[in-house]
Amino acid sequence: MGDVFTSRIPAHLKQEVSRVGSNSDVYISQYNIYAGNLVDEAGNRPFPEHMVLLSHWNLRDELKANYPLGNVGLQKQKMIYQVMKRIISQSIPNDVINNGEFLWNPYTNQVFANGSEVTLDSEPDTRYQQIVNNFRALRAMDAYTPLDTYIKRKFEGEMEISQPEVEALFVEFLESEVLKEVGTLISERLGRPLEPFDIWYDGFKARSNINEEHLTAQTRKLYPDAAALDSDLPDLLIKLGFPAEKAHSLGEKITVDPARGSGHAWGAAMKGQQSHLRTRVPESGMDYKGYNIAIHEFGHNVEQTLSLYDVDYYMLNGVPNTAFTEALAFIFQKRDLQLLGRSDKSPEQEALKTLDVLWSTYEIMGVSLLDMRVWKWLYEHPDATASELKDATVTLAKEIWNNYYAPVYGMKDEPVLAIYSHMVSYPLYLSAYAYGNIIEFQLEQYLTEQDFAEEVQRIFRQGRLTPNQWMMEAVGSPIDVHPMIEAAKEALKQI
Ligand SMILES: [Zn+2]
Repeated sequence: MGDVFTSRIPAHLKQEVSRVGSNSDVYISQYNIYAGNLVDEAGNRPFPEHMVLLSHWNLRDELKANYPLGNVGLQKQKMIYQVMKRIISQSIPNDVINNGEFLWNPYTNQVFANGSEVTLDSEPDTRYQQIVNNFRALRAMDAYTPLDTYIKRKFEGEMEISQPEVEALFVEFLESEVLKEVGTLISERLGRPLEPFDIWYDGFKARSNINEEHLTAQTRKLYPDAAALDSDLPDLLIKLGFPAEKAHSLGEKITVDPARGSGHAWGAAMKGQQSHLRTRVPESGMDYKGYNIAIHEFGHNVEQTLSLYDVDYYMLNGVPNTAFTEALAFIFQKRDLQLLGRSDKSPEQEALKTLDVLWSTYEIMGVSLLDMRVWKWLYEHPDATASELKDATVTLAKEIWNNYYAPVYGMKDEPVLAIYSHMVSYPLYLSAYAYGNIIEFQLEQYLTEQDFAEEVQRIFRQGRLTPNQWMMEAVGSPIDVHPMIEAAKEALKQI
């Protein structure tokens, strides 16, 4: 109850945080790169003419999409990474951002208009100015709350685990020897030495051997509209092992609504209210992709309902933080084929999945660590200018690279970890992803070995304990990176 009244921050400071925050959102949401206008030294334009990529998400996804394309793909990946480095160092010409007027060679940094070279100014450290603006607005709140830094509010306050604890957990993972072995395996699979952008290697993704069109035919027939899914919810729970009575009582408290967006789960705020599963069902019925997302949302609804109705005290309702509800949502989503009466599980696919989770956790932990260290640096240098912050960010990124990535990748001083847009528009949010990966893995591994339905019910009626206490009572040990590391060692033997 006390958490509701921890601080009283003046409204004008909150308004300022939201003002600079929306400025950063706009800055990031308009940071498009006209990939079709990128040229190399031979004058080639390797990307489709009208391709526009939002930094960093689309740049990264395009990089991933080029893995199957051999050397042609590799050249494109190198070009994208060169663009990223120009963004990080702010040597990118300001007028090639969100603008298709010029051709740009990111290697030489030459810009061309109508066939002749033109001179443009570089971006004036705007990226880092955004971070400075956020820092100053958030720091102004410090005097009005017992958690007297934004770092403490984000970690001790929101995540309920201290920043040094999170950092120690991440470093323990990043120092793990198994990463070297997985790096060697990736290099073998690629047939070349690792490149810095292989932090996004996605060749462990287990492609399903079931044709998606067959799945869509099945989901369309099963779920022609939202009402059909609504009435099927108890049966889905029974298939997951829930007793009939519990399956029906949960199903009754969850309503499926048709929605325009991709999907959403809206929990009830008090007993007696419905929890809403919002999902998109086209005229032709639910396709497989929509179904897959709906099962994810269903996981959220089940968590929301158990942790509201079955928790002893109302004030303890819910889960420690969003990572815990996401964990159950993903655990449900992974069982979507089982719910359709199909399975494509093989030991090799399971092993690949484990390596995929490990490798993506490796990437996200590095960027999270950088995010944390940048904020610690800011608190040590509260009057820093954008250009000083830029230098510090690049130095810190290279330091983390040299400590935890160079031993696996074999090259030093790469700044790639500084490309994430979240650092600009969602300060200190990245750690929640990395932390979520650990929690989900630990929980999934435990539930696979136990009576799934029984344990889900027991675990999610614990309520909003602190994260470590919740995990100890859920699986018998605190939040820990070792289950993932150990599973990866086993997976390597399997592959
Ligand atoms: Zn979710």
